[in-house]
Amino acid sequence: MSNTVTRFAPSPTGFMHIGNLRTALYSYLLTKSQGGKFILRIEDTDQVRLVEGATEVILDTLKMTGIDYDEGPVIGGDHGPYIQSERLPIYKEYAEKLVKGGHAYYCFCTPERLESLKDENGIGGYDGHCRGLSREEIEKNLAEGMPYVIRQRMPDEGKTSYVDVVYGEVEIDNSELRDQIMIKADGYPTYNFCHVVDDYLMGVTHVVRGNEYLTSTPKYCLLYDAFGWERPTYVHLPLLMGKDEEGKVSKLSKRHGAVSFQDLVNDGYLPEAIVNYIALLGWCPKDSNQEFFTMDELKESFSIEGLSKSPAVFDYEKLKWFNGEYIKKLPEDEYNAKALPIVREVCGEHINAEKLASLLHTRISCFSEIREMVGFVTSRLPMESDLYTNKKNKTTPEICKEILTDCLPLLETVESWDNDTLFAVLKEYAASKEKKAGAVMWAVRIAVARQAVTPGGATELMEVFGKAESIERIRLAIEELG
Ligand code: GLU
Repeated sequence: MSNTVTRFAPSPTGFMHIGNLRTALYSYLLTKSQGGKFILRIEDTDQVRLVEGATEVILDTLKMTGIDYDEGPVIGGDHGPYIQSERLPIYKEYAEKLVKGGHAYYCFCTPERLESLKDENGIGGYDGHCRGLSREEIEKNLAEGMPYVIRQRMPDEGKTSYVDVVYGEVEIDNSELRDQIMIKADGYPTYNFCHVVDDYLMGVTHVVRGNEYLTSTPKYCLLYDAFGWERPTYVHLPLLMGKDEEGKVSKLSKRHGAVSFQDLVNDGYLPEAIVNYIALLGWCPKDSNQEFFTMDELKESFSIEGLSKSPAVFDYEKLKWFNGEYIKKLPEDEYNAKALPIVREVCGEHINAEKLASLLHTRISCFSEIREMVGFVTSRLPMESDLYTNKKNKTTPEICKEILTDCLPLLETVESWDNDTLFAVLKEYAASKEKKAGAVMWAVRIAVARQAVTPGGATELMEVFGKAESIERIRLAIEELG
């Protein structure tokens, strides 16, 4: 086992954004490609943003996508607890260490005072007012029970830099850094502080996360330095973008389509297809243009060098294509488990649902498409006689009427109503009348389906409809042809 340790540290905010899922996946693949360890940590210290049940959503998503963690909630591990709200004493202890070392200090400023530091636009940072409090003043304030926060003491001058694996060197003037809060008045730590303590204590070697943290990372580096800890390797990932109808690109959000893993699954996308697609949104394999990857293949192929720093655009059409390919590859029983309930629900009991589902297997790219594709089954669509005209088969409404009139009595005598028998009957009829089989099939298919494009041929559709409905539709078609 290698020494690489990565983590996924989501805040339980209610749903799993695809961008977050990609972060989890890349973090997982980075460590697994090297035989390392993957940790799940729930960052729930921002109590205001907490959503009930959100942790379960995270756990379910990781399970469904096959992103297995080696340590984390439920399964435990050597570095627990893995839920930050259960680690509060640890953060206090480490904050106090920094206070002792002079890298942090108690701040007793009131909310009113902090408010007064802001300009008319509500902007304005902390002015370092409590930096120089004497030990006596601090003791006195504490004895009086004054509320306080603990702040990180930033260096007054110099620069702090680090090298991000994806973006290269990031450098910031220390004078731009405010003395940020590490422990709030209610005793809860801020993300800015506690994730650093956790990453260190959990032995994280590579921090993989969204690039919104790129420019605050110097502050985290300063915390590592203040503790005398070795900094981890930082891997910040470019934003996931979406394209709107006018072709404008912006951060992927609801106006572009479904943005959570669960919504995509509800829309009929397969977890394997989603994982495969998002794996390629910002990463590509070296020296190959392979597009289809199982999770094991991803673990095998993934490398940091394949990460891109340009923002990736989420393309729903491309995901749909991937999904269609994955659906085609599904074994029949797995496919039926998903497709049949929808077909049955939409079409009712009177049709051959198994047959219809099987006709759709290679024709859908998403399970949600089934509903719209079976509209011609659930109702008899208005007939347009133009549909009977087909150049290749040399058919016209008149020719079709003749064919249908001939075939109706033949079909009425068919007892075993299945595709093979029906096909043989129509073929024999075509031969006996020296007609093209294609013309006969065309006429019957249009009469039965009442639309041009269908998920199957004439006799397959008749099998779906069953004898009574097929005969009824053909009779109706003859009538309409006048
Ligand atoms: N809880 C943070 C988030 O969900 C994690 C950022 C990080 O990975 O450090 O954005």
